[in-house]
Amino acid sequence: LPPAEKYEYQAEVSRLMDLIVNSLYSNKEVFLRELISNASDALDKLRFLSVTEPELMKDAVEFDIRIQADKDNGIITITDTGIGMTRQELVDCLGTIAQSGTAKFLKALKDTKDAGGDNNLIGQFGVGFYSAFLVSDRVVVSTKSPKSDKQYVWVGEANDSSYTIREETDPEKLIPRGTRLTLYLKRDDKGFAHPERIQKLVKNYSQFVSFPIYTWQEKGYTKEVEVDEEPAEAKAEGQDEKAEKKKKTKTVVERYWDWELTNETQPIWLRNPKDVTKEEYNEFYKKTFNEYLDPLASSHFTTEGEVEFRSILYVPAFAASGKDDIINPKTKNIRLYVKRVFISDDFDGELFPRYLSFVKGVVDSNDLPLNVSREILQESRIVRIMRKRLVRKAFDMILGISMSENREDYEKFWENFGKHLKLGCIEDRENHKRIAPLLRFFSSQSEEEMIGLDEYVENMKPDQKDIYYIAADSVTSAKNTPFLERLLEKDLEVLFLVDPIDEVAIQNLKSYKEKNFVDISKEDLDIGDKNEEKEKEMKQEFGQTCDWIKKHLGDKVASVQISNRLSSSPCVLVSGKFGWSANMEKLMKAQTM
Ligand code: ADP
Ligand code: MG
Repeated sequence: LPPAEKYEYQAEVSRLMDLIVNSLYSNKEVFLRELISNASDALDKLRFLSVTEPELMKDAVEFDIRIQADKDNGIITITDTGIGMTRQELVDCLGTIAQSGTAKFLKALKDTKDAGGDNNLIGQFGVGFYSAFLVSDRVVVSTKSPKSDKQYVWVGEANDSSYTIREETDPEKLIPRGTRLTLYLKRDDKGFAHPERIQKLVKNYSQFVSFPIYTWQEKGYTKEVEVDEEPAEAKAEGQDEKAEKKKKTKTVVERYWDWELTNETQPIWLRNPKDVTKEEYNEFYKKTFNEYLDPLASSHFTTEGEVEFRSILYVPAFAASGKDDIINPKTKNIRLYVKRVFISDDFDGELFPRYLSFVKGVVDSNDLPLNVSREILQESRIVRIMRKRLVRKAFDMILGISMSENREDYEKFWENFGKHLKLGCIEDRENHKRIAPLLRFFSSQSEEEMIGLDEYVENMKPDQKDIYYIAADSVTSAKNTPFLERLLEKDLEVLFLVDPIDEVAIQNLKSYKEKNFVDISKEDLDIGDKNEEKEKEMKQEFGQTCDWIKKHLGDKVASVQISNRLSSSPCVLVSGKFGWSANMEKLMKAQTM
């Protein structure tokens, strides 16, 4: 018999295990959701790989998940017929942290100073496989990969910094393919091993798993059995012949145990949108993307014609990476299916441009080949058409939020994803028309609440031709700039561009509704109050003064001019028409330093 080999967990895993085992987390039942989602992932992986490697499926076993609860001994087993794990995969997957959910959790943990917050984090991020230790003293994973001819057993205990792996030799325990988890529950958590409780949890947590989940349930059926015993009362009551002769029957309940299908396996996106409630969409979102907040919006649609696909898209309520991070296009936010088979969530701009990579959702296409590769995705005309439609739908969804009664929703959106849209102004000329109405800025007439360009345009003076803006590092400094004086006097509204990216975004847009964006800090600002006569006079009168100033400042300025743009400040530094604005220059300097 090959002996069990002992391994130490990676330090991060030990830390995580420690936290899970000793946590006072009250919502321990999430362990089931995590383990079922792993089983479902394993089935997805097998189904996907078998498209190109049919020999992986040589064992004709159904794709399913089976959960058995033994309440007398406090044991739960979860069996899937998925991809399983080789010996090396056991070490890599269950001894180290490589995957995203748990890594995210650990990062959040690091960011949370206060220890009380830890317990909530478990629920927010899901701690994957290790959540088994929320309720178990001992976890046994027996697994058979179709890539290996051996089955291996991984055993881990709570409060132990090492685990063992051995070969499975008990013929009773051999499985054709997949993974069987056996959880030996902690004394206080044995209550989870009740079949009815398991059934309830599965219904609650796994209604969107697309493989059948069976739970082991006690069932009963009623049957009539004949009783030929004489009723004692009948005799006592007298010699009623009828009563004596009548055959007596009674109803009994016959009990037995069997597998019961416990979840609904029709994917939600295949259902008719009319029959799906908002709650169901939100639940699906939270389960699929491990989110704990409802999305801001969702959109479920089917496209027909040239390319057919179904999709549900979501706008999250907050930016996962933190709103100040660099936008990362590799988010695993879009799950692509081909004819219901999960293909990939590993995209890099193929289905959504980088700046829209925050949109989450599922896309199910009938037109792509099942063995679609990254190269095919990048080259495919079908994918290009899909991308166009998806982007359009995403914009519709965002526009919907912006028009919602609930102004807060769009404020939330803007706070989290405003930067993304501004990046879109720079990177996606084709969609300027869709992006522009979604932008928001402070202005000289709205310093507290941001306004959209539509509001600005509506508020324009009848003879006003341009949209004015000033870039600064804050609303306060924008407000105090001397450039503003004359415009304020004439009651012209000026947008305050206070985010570093704003100015570049606006310059890329160039115009909105045929009105040009004009930087009020640049020379030659024409606000329609030119008085040529007077200007000439002034130039003559102060020409020498200007020359004198220029001589003293030398190269520090390009020229010194008389201007009518100020009303109370004596002078102002403006930038050349074609040069960078002062704000840009400041930014560029900061970047090269
Ligand atoms: P995640 O599911 O986010 O990757 P988990 O901690 O839940 O993280 O699981 C870690 C890894 O262990 C998985 O990525 C997978 O490779 C492996 N694994 C877990 N459960 C199973 C299973 N039932 N079958 C096959 N592999 C599994
Ligand atoms: Mg998992």
